[in-house]
Amino acid sequence: MIEILVNLGPRSYPILVGAGTLGSVGPELSKRGVGRRAVLITDPAIATLYADPVLNSLTRAGFDVAQILVPDGEKAKRLEVASDLWDRLLDAGCDRTSTVVALGGGAVGDLAGFVAATYMRGMNFVQVPTTLLAQVDASIGGKTAIDHPRGKNLIGAFHQPRVVIVDTAVLTTLPEREFRSGLAEVIKHGIVLDAAYFAELEGSIPALLARDLATLDRVVAGSCRLKARVVERDEQEAELRWVLNYGHTVGHALEAATDFNRWAHGEAVSLGITAEAMLAERLGIAGAATTERQVRLLSAVGLPVKGLDVPPAAVVDALSRDKKRRDGRVSFVFAPEIGSFRIVPDVPRETVEQVLSALL
Ligand code: NAD
Repeated sequence: MIEILVNLGPRSYPILVGAGTLGSVGPELSKRGVGRRAVLITDPAIATLYADPVLNSLTRAGFDVAQILVPDGEKAKRLEVASDLWDRLLDAGCDRTSTVVALGGGAVGDLAGFVAATYMRGMNFVQVPTTLLAQVDASIGGKTAIDHPRGKNLIGAFHQPRVVIVDTAVLTTLPEREFRSGLAEVIKHGIVLDAAYFAELEGSIPALLARDLATLDRVVAGSCRLKARVVERDEQEAELRWVLNYGHTVGHALEAATDFNRWAHGEAVSLGITAEAMLAERLGIAGAATTERQVRLLSAVGLPVKGLDVPPAAVVDALSRDKKRRDGRVSFVFAPEIGSFRIVPDVPRETVEQVLSALL
């Protein structure tokens, strides 16, 4: 098991990565001196696959455990579902010393984290992420949220977990498209944060795609480490954490312009990375070779790098509605070279449209 500390002073916690770690949820939680009550929140499909080892480990460690099922995917991140969970936690007699354990993808983690952040002003929370995206990204850093009818993730809170337990063996049942989609975040971490990690990914493609467990442990732990270092330096997303939006500025706009049903999130991010790499090149911030390496790795893992089929003007309109703009301006993160980044405010609309046209 690989242990990575997220150092946030009194809110510090470890990320434990390794195949077969689901069974360590109970013992890890007992080490943290929390109350006896634990509630496992998961969706029906994940419950069938993975709830038993987690429930058993909690029971064996002496916890009084209940399981609550929530809808699958984004449907979980609704106020009615959160409200039902608050009722169920009250029914179960939970107090602030009790623990919510989120077992699932980013949707379950965001919802369960939001409920844990708000129930009695904050109770203990454990993340047990089961998608690649949730393991390397959503479960680390304490961002929790539900959606609002007017937009995704508009209602939320920062609430750090007590521990994140990442069992890489669960990735073997993840549908192919979900797995590849998660690789977009892994590749993003390499591009803007660590050239050696990026090169390691370039050298691991067949083993990664075959979901070889030793390779998954190494790659997932590497990505968790990179995300943890960013979160440590900017817990509440003041500035540095912005770097993690690489590929997401255009990626989110693509998703919004197509009502979130044309691409999987990581596919939109892959197109976003490609567009933002080309933008950096056009603005004289990066060279052609840097774009080529990014595009080559994204395509090698089966992610899209062209075939936009959305009018560029619609994407730029969606960009200017992005909730992350500040004072009406959209900032971009660019990679001058592999392993480095620069934040650039105010990129001209026409330049963005030209690049998007080239990807049609
Ligand atoms: P998801 O949570 O919607 O799950 C996708 C599907 O995969 C679900 O149907 C689930 O049942 C299934 N699944 C999960 N693990 C499985 C496994 N091991 N085997 C088989 N099936 C499995 O998808 P996601 O991509 O993990 O998360 C997307 C959500 O994460 C979005 O709501 C997004 O806003 C959020 N997110 C949050 C953060 C953050 O920092 N909080 C960061 C990125 C994304």
